Amino acid sequence: VWRGPEQQTSVVRMGGRSIGGPELMVIAGPCAVECRENLLQTAQAVAASGAGAIRGGAFKPRTSPYSFRGLGEEGLKYLAEARELTGLPVVTEVMSFHEVELVARYADVLQIGARNMQNFALLEAAGEVDKPVLLKRGLGNTVKELLLCAEYILARGNQQVMFCERGIRTFETETRNTLDLAAVPILKQNSHLPVVVDPSHAAGKRELVPALALAAVAAGADGLMIEVHPEPAKALSDGRQTIDLPAFDDLMKRLALVAQAV
Ligand code: PEP
Ligand code: MN
Repeated sequence: VWRGPEQQTSVVRMGGRSIGGPELMVIAGPCAVECRENLLQTAQAVAASGAGAIRGGAFKPRTSPYSFRGLGEEGLKYLAEARELTGLPVVTEVMSFHEVELVARYADVLQIGARNMQNFALLEAAGEVDKPVLLKRGLGNTVKELLLCAEYILARGNQQVMFCERGIRTFETETRNTLDLAAVPILKQNSHLPVVVDPSHAAGKRELVPALALAAVAAGADGLMIEVHPEPAKALSDGRQTIDLPAFDDLMKRLALVAQAV
């Protein structure tokens, strides 16, 4: 994981696309896969706006066990269909080492969520499959701990890892989490792996997402992960932080300007 002198960012392949090269990778889609039509509509729209990958959880970590926890394998099938339709790779979360093989059968990128950053059995299982891994920073974890968690995956032979800063818990309550933008240059100075920023889970409020996304690109992020839904108010999870399709299209235009400048 550690960056050698003069070492460039490693390019990680994501299906037919890649992250870590000159082009900004924007991963967009709903928090959770809710139904087929909704997902396909979202996938087509974000693809038309220039997204490089589709996101959507089929296995959802929820604070309450009584909240919507995802469609499971049915959701993975809809994601595969969205890939067929758009040509975009699919990023989706795997929550347990028991499900790594199942999720890897459908996904192009395995997402390990913030709550599982230090789930070492899961990290090691992800280290044994030939799929890139998006490793999210834990809510209460340091950048150094995040770097060491990537080692668990790399040490098992899987070199295709990218980090994701998604905000950490602080005393501030205006945002859901505090986006630690310093993590971007720190990760990039210490590691050769690409860095993604998720402004949605940091902000917790959709009106804050564009500013954080633009700032992340200015700070040197290789990619973004943004929650998008045709009708955020009706989303089954994280609607408050989710932007709609026109807002995503508008944001993509502004991101292109910043990406060009850095
Ligand atoms: C998500 O990406 O939908 C998610 C649950 O994120 P996090 O693990 O960062 O909370
Ligand atoms: Mn979410």
